[in-house]
Amino acid sequence: MTRDLTLGILGGGQLAQMIALAALPLGVRCVVLEPDPLAPARLCAEHLRAPYTDPAGLERLTGCDAVTLEFENVPVGATSVLEGQVPLRPSPAVLHRSKHRGREKVALEAAGARVAPYRLIESEADLEGALASLGGQGILKTAELGYDGKGQARIGNEAELHAAWDELGGVPCVLEGLVPFVREVSLGVARGPDGSLSFGPLVENIHRGGILRRSVYPAGSSAHTAAQARTLAGAVADAWGVVGLITLEFFELAGVDGQGGELIVNEVAPRVHNSGHLTQDGGGVSQFEAAVRAALGLPMQDFLPLLPCGMVNILGWEKGNEPDWAALESLPGTHLHLYHKASKPGRKLGHVNVVGQTPEEVLAGMEMVQRVLGIK
Ligand code: AMP
Repeated sequence: MTRDLTLGILGGGQLAQMIALAALPLGVRCVVLEPDPLAPARLCAEHLRAPYTDPAGLERLTGCDAVTLEFENVPVGATSVLEGQVPLRPSPAVLHRSKHRGREKVALEAAGARVAPYRLIESEADLEGALASLGGQGILKTAELGYDGKGQARIGNEAELHAAWDELGGVPCVLEGLVPFVREVSLGVARGPDGSLSFGPLVENIHRGGILRRSVYPAGSSAHTAAQARTLAGAVADAWGVVGLITLEFFELAGVDGQGGELIVNEVAPRVHNSGHLTQDGGGVSQFEAAVRAALGLPMQDFLPLLPCGMVNILGWEKGNEPDWAALESLPGTHLHLYHKASKPGRKLGHVNVVGQTPEEVLAGMEMVQRVLGIK
């Protein structure tokens, strides 16, 4: 009998789809709990079409060998049913931390990581003096439920702060000071049930309008900074007792005396991450395979690309502006990944990975991809 394991996934979007695609050749089938009838993962996994708290759906997941997730905002009603019945990886305690920006920062600092200067804003009274204490400029972010630049606003003065807080619904927020970063980077780390760590690549990320546009490996960071990222990621995974895969997003500060810049942790995703998609085609283990292995306690290794590579996101187009797929697919070194989602402007519909022998070749390939996609 060959291996035949089952991995449950809370959520059935593109991340679940790519986890399921990576799981199958490892002898692992996936079952996704996801209410959306058009969920991308339905095409390659057993689809339990029900709310995340559905008793029958959760019952089916408890019969899996382990359960993982593709988004951090899993309702407590779901995790509390699963807890103790089936290994949930990462655990409810990790989710509880990473879904709230305030709790996350406290837990990051406790693990020895630096975070952006911030103030918790839980009531109108907390706005008083907060901006001034952060240097007069900042970003107001809802403590929970923000993604892809949603649920946040740039703040340049007191009036804007009050207006933004109202605009965001007067919900608990964190106000962060502006970090003068030289680049944004991210790194995935997987931790097995025995505490063993394996690391992903340090990837450099370019955002537009709060949405990830593209990622490149290797990042432009120094070896010192790359080592620091691994140390921090390992320290957080150990301190939080993570079993499974998490991804840390960092701001890199300017370096001094030729040394690499210090890293500030922006946030932690308790899951595979858009910036790790380039590991699918770089020749090594992918972040999706690593997530499956960590969740199920299978043997692990670092999930590092063997070649320089990059990724460009494909966002939904305005009517009549559909990308020229044939032109895209005829570019050398490119790999198309479409999620089978209906197009809406700005929605993540797929990505293109570009692989080359040198970083220059990858950057030139990504330029060509962006030209075909009509993006800067
Ligand atoms: P986030 O949702 O926290 O990942 O923020 C989205 C993007 O906004 C980040 O990737 C940065 O480009 C920018 N950003 C967020 N927080 C800060 C900050 N404290 N200082 C400067 N830029 C920020």
